[in-house]
Amino acid sequence: MKYVIIGNSVAGINAATAIRQNDTQGEILIISDEQTRPYSRPLLPNWVIGEVSFSQERMFYRRNDFFEKNNIKTLLGKKVESIDTKAKIVSISNSESLPYDKLIITSGASAILPKNIVGIELEGIHTLTNIKGARKLKENLDNIGSIVIVGAGLIGTKMAYDLSKIGKKVVLVELAKRVLFPALDDYAAGLIQEELKENGVEIILNDSVVQLNGDEKVSEVVLASNKKIPCDACLLSVGVFPNIPFVDENIKVDRGIVVDDYLKACDDCYAAGDVASVYDIVANIRRPIPILPLAAKEGFISGLNASGSEVKFNGGFAMNSIEIGNIGFISMGLIESDNDEVLEYKKDNEYRKFIIRDNRLIGVILVNNVEKVGMFNWMIEKGFDVSWIKDTFLNSDFGWKYFDKAFRVLRLDRKLKG
Ligand SMILES: Cc1cc2nc3c(=O)[nH]c(=O)nc-3n(C[C@H](O)[C@H](O)[C@H](O)COP(=O)(O)OP(=O)(O)OC[C@H]3O[C@@H](n4cnc5c(N)ncnc54)[C@H](O)[C@@H]3O)c2cc1C
Repeated sequence: MKYVIIGNSVAGINAATAIRQNDTQGEILIISDEQTRPYSRPLLPNWVIGEVSFSQERMFYRRNDFFEKNNIKTLLGKKVESIDTKAKIVSISNSESLPYDKLIITSGASAILPKNIVGIELEGIHTLTNIKGARKLKENLDNIGSIVIVGAGLIGTKMAYDLSKIGKKVVLVELAKRVLFPALDDYAAGLIQEELKENGVEIILNDSVVQLNGDEKVSEVVLASNKKIPCDACLLSVGVFPNIPFVDENIKVDRGIVVDDYLKACDDCYAAGDVASVYDIVANIRRPIPILPLAAKEGFISGLNASGSEVKFNGGFAMNSIEIGNIGFISMGLIESDNDEVLEYKKDNEYRKFIIRDNRLIGVILVNNVEKVGMFNWMIEKGFDVSWIKDTFLNSDFGWKYFDKAFRVLRLDRKLKG
């Protein structure tokens, strides 16, 4: 059996690991257009400002000998240009064609570069979704006194704080009415905004970039409101789109590669991670959910299924976490609702919010008290009936002591999963 995996990151290596559980003999080939060992994208902002180095083991998802030990071949620095899922062939940059028996697509997502922004091709425009983009920003850092960051999602907000911390003048521009719009509600985002401001970040909300000016290199950003911001660089972090230009007509695309409950895209072909459009159990739609734990889980399940198992992927939901100075938060699922039961606790910098529909937990925000996140995650995932316990969610000593019954169920569940 010959397995080909496109993408050498979280989903790809988990797929390879799972295949080896089922099939010790089959040939596994991972193709990636990057040259490096699979590395942590969430640590890229820390790497840019020198908080971690690329030689530290925590930058990488597997030990250096992982591929050799598991007899996994790699083809690095090669881009897949096309696939033929009927003939079962993958074609790479130098026109080489590689046959496969089972294909797993884990090609992830890349930064969106809004084409409608005039001057987007100028030098000094950065993105940060891979090591190449991070390296370019890091190498230019000494020449950057001031930077405009466009998009206050997880990457933009984290970079705004980190760059301000090392003495750069940072302006953070966001189209929505608050930072971290899909991840936090007004109250929690307000806490983060205060922290950013206290640390020197200027925040401009309800505005967008329409033009970038400069001779060769960007020197000014023009906003829709006509405000002009002088700068030495601009970081675009307005979202990601799936890497799918190589797929053929047998693969259905709807925001990402459409897969069934077994992560199958078409005959003998699977997709997993940021590239896949999967079931969101909270929003009740299919869409890419570009987060690390799901990429790992989907990757693993796709590998098991490609090598003979029949494991169902029940779906996932958005989960975001970040630490900005003294504020750490985790949010999951829905973050605001006018039509559901909402429980809230606010005191100083601590905030807890729970959204409950038909006695099922469907959304959580935890700010500065995130210890019990595992329990809530499990409740959302399992559609757990919280009617008998929800009144204790806001108690300051909330924990397993209230959860005798749930605890037993959870433990049993873990035992069954092995
Ligand atoms: C700066 C940053 C911070 C993040 N922080 C968090 C966080 O705090 N929490 C969280 O849960 N998630 C976070 N994420 C998201 C997380 O990193 C992704 O969900 C995860 O990396 C997805 O893994 P993947 O394997 O699906 O795809 P990717 O990690 O995107 O890997 C895909 C690989 O496929 C390669 N590839 C693409 N096209 C081709 C082709 N045609 N031929 C060959 N190879 C190809 C790519 O170069 C890449 O190496 C962050 C991401 C970034 C960029």
